[in-house]
Amino acid sequence: MRYSRQEILIGKKAQQKLRNSTVSIVGLGALGSVSANLLARVGIGKLILIDRDLVEISNLQRQDLFTEEHLCKPKASVAKEILDKINSEVEIISYFDDLNYKNINLIKSGLILDCTDNLETRFLINEFCIKNKIPWIYSSAVKDSGYVFNILPNKVCLKCILKDSKAEETCEISGVLNTITNLIASIQVNEAIKILTNNNPEKDLIFVNINKNELTKIKVKKDKTCAACNKKFEYLNGKKQVNFVKYCGSNVYKINKDFNFNKTKQNLKKLGIKDFKTAFQFKDMTIFKNSVLIKANSEKEAKSLYSKYMGN
Ligand SMILES: [Zn+2]
Repeated sequence: MRYSRQEILIGKKAQQKLRNSTVSIVGLGALGSVSANLLARVGIGKLILIDRDLVEISNLQRQDLFTEEHLCKPKASVAKEILDKINSEVEIISYFDDLNYKNINLIKSGLILDCTDNLETRFLINEFCIKNKIPWIYSSAVKDSGYVFNILPNKVCLKCILKDSKAEETCEISGVLNTITNLIASIQVNEAIKILTNNNPEKDLIFVNINKNELTKIKVKKDKTCAACNKKFEYLNGKKQVNFVKYCGSNVYKINKDFNFNKTKQNLKKLGIKDFKTAFQFKDMTIFKNSVLIKANSEKEAKSLYSKYMGN
């Protein structure tokens, strides 16, 4: 009964295919929380979720899974709690973690949805999926428009059509409407269902502008010189990992350095931490096994906070 309305359209066999599928969602912001919600209701067998952020007040305008009572909690654990209530038939695994080349095996599954907000992670997913022959769906939204693109094994990849970009437009600077993020996530999930049920997924790059009510399908071609398609994996082997990142338009910095996670946790415990097991919060820092996110007003402040509490 639960799936009767969609079974009329997709059929019982396709429903069973969804039931037997595992889908990973990277990022639980505006796109990821909507996609996770839709996929749980659709009846995917298993969902793997990964996100590194805590719920903030500015998220509530568009991030469907979260409410005011979830502020300051990890999005990954809140999402699991809510999705378990929406559909207890779906197995939900969630990670409060920063996805990088060291832990990317966490998202190994039949299909990966990109709901991140940065190209570095997208290129990492791109290489991981080429290497493991996993289909994935790129999505992005900013202001009043967005993109969806299916990246299928041996077909056009993200690196074929997008080169490294330092000047990405971000929602923090340019803003974003909740209507476009919902629409883009809906298209992404609709394509996910097509991929999982072998039902003719879209080959073109989809562009939508909700202000003009325009949907454009853009033809894309494989780039023969594409490094990723030629299996030169610069992100997956860690070569492209930048050890100090400022997220454009926000006051968040990320530092990737080797340190002893357990020892650091023990030391900082005395000063008061919020323990989330796979990560912990200390002052304005979220400390993961391989990286630290720091809220600071300048690069100097971020670096000095790091060395003060984490060492050099
Ligand atoms: Zn390529």
